[in-house]
Amino acid sequence: MSLYKTKAIVLKDYDLKEQDKIVIFYSLKYGKIRIVAKGGRKIKSKFAPAIQPPSYLNLLVYRYGRDDLDILSESWIVHPFLGIRRDLVRFAYSSYIAELVIKLSAEREASPALFYLILKILFLMEKIPKRDLPLLIRSFELKSLSILGYKPSLENCIYCGERVEEANISSFGVSEGGIICESCQKRHKRKLNISRETIKALKFLLYSNPEKSTKLRLEEKVQREVEKLLKDYLLYRIGDKMLTSSFIDNFKNLEEREG
Ligand SMILES: [Zn+2]
Repeated sequence: MSLYKTKAIVLKDYDLKEQDKIVIFYSLKYGKIRIVAKGGRKIKSKFAPAIQPPSYLNLLVYRYGRDDLDILSESWIVHPFLGIRRDLVRFAYSSYIAELVIKLSAEREASPALFYLILKILFLMEKIPKRDLPLLIRSFELKSLSILGYKPSLENCIYCGERVEEANISSFGVSEGGIICESCQKRHKRKLNISRETIKALKFLLYSNPEKSTKLRLEEKVQREVEKLLKDYLLYRIGDKMLTSSFIDNFKNLEEREG
């Protein structure tokens, strides 16, 4: 048995037997990890206040071996993200981030870049105006995909490899993972499916810092196209639907009806 210490973000928790919980964390040193919080379901549990998603914690963990689940020894709250937990809409968006990380990242594969990106996004999510939340999510989708090795090609045609000016981009191949130039589009009989403005927006979201991305003002049509393209690309990469996205759509519909 050994002990390790790491900074970690709570992604999700679920019940295990009568009194315990399993918590999925994204940790700085070990990436995605599953840990048992003994007694975590009890109201008086010492872990209960800490293991609420998406809290940012310091952990001390027992590791028994490869085939056993790690056991939480101690936890200290660094930042509880109360501004997210106390707001249903913000919480829905943070659950989307958590689901994406759980589905995209591998078990026990550290990526400090991804860890710090999640933290940065959560700190912004806690304070920015709600209308900017969708762009924050788009920024996270593109940046996390590229950190994990699925960066879409936005400069060079995915077929011929030529650098393509924005004016000559014709479509985006979801399964190929990038833009397709005019001549390759004709040769491969691809449908036109992307506008110049959408390509520009994708590049901006990929290369700018997340805070700047939330200030981007896009036409409704472009925003929808960016969202749809990333949704299709993620579906292809993950091979599974994002459950929390329908949760967010429900909120959007509600707000539109009220507002
Ligand atoms: Zn080409």
